Amino acid sequence: MESRNNKVFRLVIVFLCILIIGLAYLYFYYKKENRDLRYSLTSLESIEIVSYNVDSIDKQIEDFKNIDDAIKNKYDEYYTNIAKLEKKINNGESSVKIAYLTFDDGPYDLTYKVLDTLKANNIRATFFVLGKDGVEDRYKRIVNEGHTLANHTYYHNIGKGLYDSVDSFIQQVDKLEKYLYDITGYKTTLVRFPGGSATAKGLKDDIIKELHNRGYNYVDWTSETGDGSSKKLAEKDTWTWYQDTTRDKNIIVLLMHDYNYSTFNNLQRIIDDLKNRGFIFLPLHNKSMMAN
Ligand SMILES: [Zn+2]
Repeated sequence: MESRNNKVFRLVIVFLCILIIGLAYLYFYYKKENRDLRYSLTSLESIEIVSYNVDSIDKQIEDFKNIDDAIKNKYDEYYTNIAKLEKKINNGESSVKIAYLTFDDGPYDLTYKVLDTLKANNIRATFFVLGKDGVEDRYKRIVNEGHTLANHTYYHNIGKGLYDSVDSFIQQVDKLEKYLYDITGYKTTLVRFPGGSATAKGLKDDIIKELHNRGYNYVDWTSETGDGSSKKLAEKDTWTWYQDTTRDKNIIVLLMHDYNYSTFNNLQRIIDDLKNRGFIFLPLHNKSMMAN
C-alpha cells in the first residue's frame, strides 16, 4: 500500500515538473514573441520617420528647384528694407549709420589683400570692376564672398572714346556685363561712370535713360580717400581725405581704388574708425537711395 502511494506521489511530482517546464516554456516563448513584436514596432516607427524625412527631402528638393527665385526674392525683400532704412536715416528717424565701401578699376593683385581684410572684418563691400583677362578667379572671389560686383565699363577709356556717344558708353557696359556673367553667373545692375557721372557732360541724361532701360542704376560717391588722382598720395594724405570727406555724414559711399597701397595701408584704420563712429557696412544694391 505504501509503495503504491509512493508511486502515485512520484507520478504527481513528475507531472508537476512537466507542467512547470511547460509553463516556463510558454512564458518565455510568449515573452520572446512580445519582444520581437516590440522590435518590429520600433522598426516600423523608424521606417515611418525615415519615410517622413524622405517626404520632406522631396519637398526640399522641389523647393531647391526654385532656389534662384527664392534667393532673388529674399535679396529683393532685404534690400527694399535697407532702402527704407536709408530713408529713415536721412529723415533723422533712425540713428543707424551706413558705410558703403567701394573699390574701383580692379581687379588687381592687391584686390586679394583687400578681400582678405574685408573677410577678416566680416564686411561686405562693392567692387566697380573693369574687363581684364586672366583674373577670372578674382571676379569669382568677389561674388562668392558676398560683395557686390558692379560695372565700371569694360575699358574705362576716358578721353579715348568712352564718352564719344551714348552708344560708345553703353556698348562697354553691355560688353562687361556679358563678360562678367559668363565668368560668375552674376548679372551686374549697378554702374559707376569712370570719372563720375559729371564726366559724361551733355551725354549724361541720355546715358542714364539707356542704363535704366537695361535695369541699371548708377552710383557716384559721397566720400573718398583721394587716391584716384594722378598725384601719388602718401598714407597720411589718404587718411586726411577720408576724414575730411566723411565728416558729419550718416550714409557714406566711400570711393577707393584697389590698386592703391596708400589707401590699402589705411584700410583697417578706416574700418576701425567707421566702426567706432557707429557705422554698419553694407554692399551697394540697385534699390539703394545712393543709386540713381
Ligand atoms: Zn575708375
